[in-house]
Amino acid sequence: SRVISPQSNREEERTDDNIRPRRLQDYIGQPVVREQMEIFIHAARHRGDALDHVLIFGPPGLGKTTLSHIIAHEMHANLRQTSGPVLEKAGDLAALLTNLEPHDLLFIDEIHRLSPMVEEILYPAMEDFQLDIMIGEGPAARSIKLDLPPFTLVGATTRAGLLTSPLRDRFGIVQRLEFYNETDLASIVMRASGIIGAKLDADGAHEIARRSRGTPRIANRLLRRVRDYAQVKGDGMINADMADKALNMLNVDHQGFDHMDRRLLLAIMEKFDGGPVGVDSLAAAIGEERGTIEDVLEPFLIQQGFLMRTPRGRVATRHAWQHFGLTMPSHLTS
Ligand code: ADP
Repeated sequence: SRVISPQSNREEERTDDNIRPRRLQDYIGQPVVREQMEIFIHAARHRGDALDHVLIFGPPGLGKTTLSHIIAHEMHANLRQTSGPVLEKAGDLAALLTNLEPHDLLFIDEIHRLSPMVEEILYPAMEDFQLDIMIGEGPAARSIKLDLPPFTLVGATTRAGLLTSPLRDRFGIVQRLEFYNETDLASIVMRASGIIGAKLDADGAHEIARRSRGTPRIANRLLRRVRDYAQVKGDGMINADMADKALNMLNVDHQGFDHMDRRLLLAIMEKFDGGPVGVDSLAAAIGEERGTIEDVLEPFLIQQGFLMRTPRGRVATRHAWQHFGLTMPSHLTS
């Protein structure tokens, strides 16, 4: 398991709720998203309407679930939570929809993984608050129509391009979450340290922030692991030096890369002469799934300028060669 995996582990699923901000004003960073959501929520509440459907996309761990909780809280509405792969049958979604109260939020994580049959149910539900469903089978089968209360669908996905266009077109509000900068991540771990009772100074917070791949979930996880280290190796206080030592022990380097990132970049440079290399060849070379490479590993490496996606495949940039102290082949430097 990766200490810097952006996906949540069991421990976090239990404890996340304590440190998840509940109000928009506590949602750190993402200024564009925050400003827009503030206006849309305020306007909808003022009119007494349900908020328009919201699509949130961005890499794992950036705050999609958190934002949906906040929207529900700010709308004074309930949040029902499910995910694309869990909704196997049309009836699963129908059961959820018919239990909604007016203005409730239905959060569907990994909405790109809905089955086509379930997705069909969603279209009239989103557009006209109508449920159109077949009950029974064979000659006895009949279709029934039910009115639904006005509700807000909040869909989350890692990449907007994964959605079918009829589904994407039905969202009135589309928000894209960006990787967080160091200042925002430092504020996030500072806030979390207060909640979990860790002793952290500003330099310690920045050291953790710098090595968290722009991702709040990773920042909060590193905070917990650094706290363990500081407790055993020191007096519990997390300063820059303590954070640095703990993160070195965890094999998280100064860029926030771990063995997986190193494997990926080194494979491109050493096995494929710096690229371009197709993602499938790369997946085979490092023994990782293509989806994990595309959704989890690459976005941060691309954003940091270590990797490029080109039409002919992945290419390691000058930064990558420098980071590993390797000489860039002359045919790439020209
Ligand atoms: P996602 O749904 O995108 O995978 P989450 O919403 O579960 O990510 O966020 C992971 C954790 O990071 C949350 O538990 C929360 O504590 C923290 N977090 C995310 N975004 C923010 C933010 N903007 N401000 C403060 N904490 C955040």
